[in-house]
Amino acid sequence: MMLIPCPYCGPRDETEFHCGGQAHVNHPNDPHAVSDEEWADFLFFRANPKGVFAERWVHAAGCRRWFNVRRDTVTNDIQSSYRIAEPGTVNE
Ligand SMILES: [Zn+2]
Repeated sequence: MMLIPCPYCGPRDETEFHCGGQAHVNHPNDPHAVSDEEWADFLFFRANPKGVFAERWVHAAGCRRWFNVRRDTVTNDIQSSYRIAEPGTVNE
């Protein structure tokens, strides 16, 4: 069992959440100005690192809000969680 610290509700069981994948993925400012390859990279390709990674999570069975979590993908240790508008660590 993993406890996920929702920044709005506090720690809750992982069964209340859904992971939305990599956090801090920026939408192209002008989608019509990018190439097909750049658009495909934006839509389909995400980092999959071994170690600490920033992810989007939604508290689906709670407040239903999205937020970010910094989680070690090897140990599942959660280092921090923060609201979308708050500064966090960007995945490299
Ligand atoms: Zn919540």
